[in-house]
Amino acid sequence: MFFHFEATLRATPANATGIDSTPLAQVITKCTIPNTAALTFDDGPYQRDISKALTDVGGKGTFFWNGDNYGCIYEDEDVERVKFAYGQGHMVASHTWAHKDLTTLSAEDINSEMSRVEDALDRIIGVRPAFTRPPYGNYNDLVRKIAHSRGQKLVTWDFDSGDSTGSTPAQSKKAYDKLVKKHPSTVLALNHETYETTAHDVLPYAIKLLVGKGYKLVTLAECLDMDPYQSVSNPQNRDGSWTC
Ligand SMILES: [Zn+2]
Repeated sequence: MFFHFEATLRATPANATGIDSTPLAQVITKCTIPNTAALTFDDGPYQRDISKALTDVGGKGTFFWNGDNYGCIYEDEDVERVKFAYGQGHMVASHTWAHKDLTTLSAEDINSEMSRVEDALDRIIGVRPAFTRPPYGNYNDLVRKIAHSRGQKLVTWDFDSGDSTGSTPAQSKKAYDKLVKKHPSTVLALNHETYETTAHDVLPYAIKLLVGKGYKLVTLAECLDMDPYQSVSNPQNRDGSWTC
């Protein structure tokens, strides 16, 4: 679902926020390095299988994390999944804390939705992300200003596998077929790993197709030639702040 126009029209008056002179964050809608495909995954628990499917062909992917959506990012199992994805060389980025539509929130709440995931990734793996995918792809000028003030670029996509909007695995695969037939210079694909079929059926198919067409499967940052993180340091040890 993509409500870009509605979202823009509903922008909160900037002078009400005290950040009216803040520049707007860049919005990334496609890759720029020719012959790259960035497969991106939002929301879900199947990183291990997706990671294996990608690394088996020498590829990398990008995982956008929520803090508290299906589960809490600070639970042991979730911490391990974040560490695993990062450790395998995939890119980690923010999908905001609780998967709220940011265009409905106050400046304070947008800041909180963004900062809590950035802090969590910093604690768990020691990196401060530089990219945020706003839930539902929704943003307005206020969201862009706050994102900019936090060092974030916003990321949408130029291809939607449709798995979160009711497509069957067969339909998602057909969508990848059509995409590859058109053979665009680059691909920035949205997938939802909340669906078991995405991880185990659609994705292996898509990977084979894209690799067969000669695309390099790279992270989002690589397909843009940008830095994935604002800072990289050592992970922290669990303490009382690790709560949802
Ligand atoms: Zn999402």
